[in-house]
Amino acid sequence: MNPIDEAISLLRQRRRVLVFTGAGISTESGIPDFRGPDGVWTRVDPAEFTIDRYLANAETRSRSWQMRRDSGALLAEPNPGHHAITRLWKAGRVHGLVTQNIDGLHQRAGMPDDAVIELHGNANRTICVACATRSDTLDVLARLDEHDDPPCPECGGILKVDVVFFGEMLPEAATRRAFDLAASADAVVAVGSTLSVYPAAHVPLDVVRAGNPLVIINRGETEFDSLASVRIDAGAGEALGAIADALTAG
Ligand code: ZN
Repeated sequence: MNPIDEAISLLRQRRRVLVFTGAGISTESGIPDFRGPDGVWTRVDPAEFTIDRYLANAETRSRSWQMRRDSGALLAEPNPGHHAITRLWKAGRVHGLVTQNIDGLHQRAGMPDDAVIELHGNANRTICVACATRSDTLDVLARLDEHDDPPCPECGGILKVDVVFFGEMLPEAATRRAFDLAASADAVVAVGSTLSVYPAAHVPLDVVRAGNPLVIINRGETEFDSLASVRIDAGAGEALGAIADALTAG
């Protein structure tokens, strides 16, 4: 049996499937991953992205806004992988969706906001570190022509995209929900993640340690390959599309 068919027959018998996604599901939308051969960290020093440096240095903030505008990531569209997860969710086949991604593409593919647990935040939202006013990141980027480091329109404070920087804690409520879901799941599908970033990778690991099967969909190796019941080395769109077709039919 090919691995996609194996995954289908395994997941068909499960009622509380947790889906865990990483950067690899969004590469088909043109968003580069971080750790791959063409990943962001081959061009940019992660040390630039610590919260301490960001808050202390207007130059760093300016470069950060510039990169965000140039990357075009906020204008990306969801791909068949995102849409397949939405189809599975609408058919009642997804117990919960936890993502490491900050691109908001699951919501853009039709997942309700409150059904997507974002462990690392969402770059579409910007927040003032002084007064907590929220704004749309695209509106902040639109002000870059007049201001290298746009201040908060309400209080003049420092603005920051609502994502977890190096040196920051994961958002507490999202983290708690993710681990609650993991504790009640009866299978986990990890998509487009090398499963090497902690604490996020503890979410699928908890499901596996409770004796439940793990399905991995990823191009290339992951840290949990030896734990997987089924390992699908393919793009998310192809693999999830076939799984959603089978599990939502009839
Ligand atoms: Zn403010």
